[in-house]
Amino acid sequence: APLVFDFSEGDRTQVDLLGGKGANLAEMTKLGLPVPPGFTVTTEACRYYLERGEEPQSLRVQITMALRRLENELGRRLGDVVDPLLVSVRSGAKHSMPGMMETVLNVGLNDYSVKGLAEAAQDERFAWDSYRRLIQMFGRTVLDIPAERFEHELDAVKARAGVATDVEIPVPALIELVEEFKHIVSDATGREFPQDPREQLDLAMRAVFNSWNTDRARLYRRRERIQHDLGTAVNICAMVFGNLGETSGTGVCFTRDPASGQPGVYGDYLSNAQGEDVVAGIRNTLTLEDFAALDPSSHAELTRIMRRLETHYRDLCDIEFTVERGKLWMLQTRVGKRTAAAAFRIATQLVDERLITRDEALARVTGHQLAQLMFPQFDVDAERTLLTRGMAASPGAAVGKVVFDSATAVAWAARGEQVMLVRRETNPDDLEGMIAATGVLTSRGGKTSHAAVVARGMGRTCVCGAEEIEVDAAARTLSVNGTQVAEGEVLSIDGSTGEVFAGELPVVASPVVIYLEQGLDAALEVADEQTGELVRSVDRLLRHADQARQLRVRANADTAEDATRARDMGAEGIGLCRTEHMFLGERRVLIERLILADDPSAREAALAELLPLQRADFVSLLEAMDGLPTTIRLLDPPLHEFLPDRTELAVRVAVAQATGRGEEADVAKDVTLLAAVDRLHESNPMLGLRGVRLGLSVPGLFAMQVRAIAGAAADRIAAGGHPVVEIMVPLVGSVMELHLIRDEIDGVLAEVARDAGVALHIPVGTMIELPRAALTARRIAEAAEFFSFGTNDLTQTTWGFSRDDVEASIFATYLDKGVFTVSPFESLDRDGVGALVRMAVQAGREVRPDIKLGICGEHGGDPESVHFFHDAGLDYVSCSAFRVPVARLEAGRAAL
Ligand code: ADP
Ligand code: MG
Ligand code: MG
Repeated sequence: APLVFDFSEGDRTQVDLLGGKGANLAEMTKLGLPVPPGFTVTTEACRYYLERGEEPQSLRVQITMALRRLENELGRRLGDVVDPLLVSVRSGAKHSMPGMMETVLNVGLNDYSVKGLAEAAQDERFAWDSYRRLIQMFGRTVLDIPAERFEHELDAVKARAGVATDVEIPVPALIELVEEFKHIVSDATGREFPQDPREQLDLAMRAVFNSWNTDRARLYRRRERIQHDLGTAVNICAMVFGNLGETSGTGVCFTRDPASGQPGVYGDYLSNAQGEDVVAGIRNTLTLEDFAALDPSSHAELTRIMRRLETHYRDLCDIEFTVERGKLWMLQTRVGKRTAAAAFRIATQLVDERLITRDEALARVTGHQLAQLMFPQFDVDAERTLLTRGMAASPGAAVGKVVFDSATAVAWAARGEQVMLVRRETNPDDLEGMIAATGVLTSRGGKTSHAAVVARGMGRTCVCGAEEIEVDAAARTLSVNGTQVAEGEVLSIDGSTGEVFAGELPVVASPVVIYLEQGLDAALEVADEQTGELVRSVDRLLRHADQARQLRVRANADTAEDATRARDMGAEGIGLCRTEHMFLGERRVLIERLILADDPSAREAALAELLPLQRADFVSLLEAMDGLPTTIRLLDPPLHEFLPDRTELAVRVAVAQATGRGEEADVAKDVTLLAAVDRLHESNPMLGLRGVRLGLSVPGLFAMQVRAIAGAAADRIAAGGHPVVEIMVPLVGSVMELHLIRDEIDGVLAEVARDAGVALHIPVGTMIELPRAALTARRIAEAAEFFSFGTNDLTQTTWGFSRDDVEASIFATYLDKGVFTVSPFESLDRDGVGALVRMAVQAGREVRPDIKLGICGEHGGDPESVHFFHDAGLDYVSCSAFRVPVARLEAGRAAL
């Protein structure tokens, strides 16, 4: 099979084989644009080389033939002594990996051809400048010589010649510089700089192959989730010269502004320079307007080509070009990367320009991008002092006074302070503090740590694993790289970059959130023209997604407040209301009393006290969600979570008993409590007494909750409302459990309906969150009117992972070794957990064709997972309020 393709042979569809750069060079050639001729060595050749450490046998000959064709076409020979052909040897993988891999320019120059080049161009400076660039680039990328050694020498020569920039170096000094560079090479490698042009080419090609596997390239691919086995293509391209004096130059441009999405071209130009100078920022660049003044005809042609490319690719393109003595050459184009805001704006602009359809526009924006637009942002113009960097765990810009514990966070927030909760790591006890804080910063743990997961769930900004930070919670200080920060001092964190700044950086609220919560008009009122266009784009694309999608989107919300917010964000119901929060705070004593009750009447008294409180909670929730389905889950967590900490209690009891101090009644109560804690202690609470097991073993508990739910529904009906409530039983593994608990539930429902004199239609369903539930879904569907997949627990139980334990200990290794490319808690594991979901969906529908199927795990707001749930044919996904718009958008995209 051919391993080498001329630019005139391929096209843009061949990115797998030719890489992005090669495929697009071929496409531009096909379009008849002025591309210097050349050829591409395929990714297949690279993969072969990387696997076996040597090139495929036929490659050498194929390159020789391609080179011959190139030489014949141009009438010049590589590295000839008269009028030599020079080439660039350029990397180019399927996915662009900016700055990750290598390119060598001016290949073919040596001690003789440099003179031929000078002669042919009638420009000595240019020839020697090109030669020194070759040795410099070749030395750095092919021979691994530290770049500083060349840069240092270049600076020294400039200093001796008394000039400020490279273009001013006089010819004799340049010749001297080339000699110095050659010395650096022989000194560092023990051999002379290779004079044979073909050897230069072959070595440069190898260096490009090898650059696929540098640490930074691997790191980049891990972060971007690009496969490690794709390899890169190599493009050999005839050189054109932007360093041929003032009528030459080089530039990059975009067909629209990739940062803001503002229409109109945008770019930088540098005269008398070669490609890499522009990005390296060695001299100040000119704008495209300046370029127009300098070289009107090249500029006009570039403008024409930009328009051509945009209509051809029907998207924002970025472009590299060079002007050689007034003649324009195209060196690269691709569909350009862009910010989230630009993505939305450009997609709708292109619809209005009739270049793409609304479906295509929707396909071009992502839920990740929408999520980014929803977080408040630091003002980009503000001055800043970077202290350190951690992991970008949950996006946003947060500023707050540092506190080191949850209680202080709550107390300070209650008096109206913005607080930044700083912990080594967080645990479930920190939840209230995290809710109270504007931002969460930890020195331990990764992107799947407790802090990160919880923060993302509630849309709280979080930077985690900032390991340079030493937290001394007892002393209420932290130190980082020699700076001390005490409680009450201000830090700013950027959850999109992981940066931690000293002091207060100004933030700006996201107009997209104003739009989502208050509508288009409210957002347009505060937005400037560009942001206004952005908000309109979001509105148009979201509405289009709503039309397109088949999945409904609900929210996980526990309170009326959360529910209202979710509804504003477009939630079409509540997929999960956790009732456990209703037992926290002041009500903890009531549940404590329930747990400690030693006879039925004490238990009933405790339940009777809880009943009206629960009922009132449900009334306000159902009022907020009037007319929309609201799924309420019966109590799930183990009881010991509601009791005091065991160690603390044991210490208190021991001290009281040893000293004989303390009120007798208090001590007695502590002793009883400790006994209860011991009784309920579990070594693996995740798999212990929780969910339906709790309902079956604590008489009256679920009945009380059902009574409160049904009573609330009756109240709402009496008030003229339209409650649509569903009762969900957690952690069912056997249909028998569900039958048993349903007997109790159905009895209570009938009783309440009878007493209130209303007809209550309250479906009862179950969570599918144990493998056994999925495996026996056919049986379970007999007793369940709906299934809701609890994918958090289903992932834990399917993998046998205890989330809190494995995330810290093993996930980094697993991600590194490729056991998975993303945590299964972040993005649903399609092959394993997904198979169980599909199985249960099918079984459920067979037994009960009208069964309602949803998902209420954290995956409900994860873009990739939403696509899976669409494919699996669920009726709805449920996620935190903040993720609702993301899920709406992705559900629409999934349906395209
Ligand atoms: P990257 O992917 O890092 O942009 P490139 O292969 O595109 O690397 O090349 C680096 C720089 O050299 C670019 O500015 C490019 O335009 C320039 N360049 C590459 N090939 C040639 C060539 N044949 N003639 C002139 N400039 C070139
Ligand atoms: Mg490039
Ligand atoms: Mg669960």
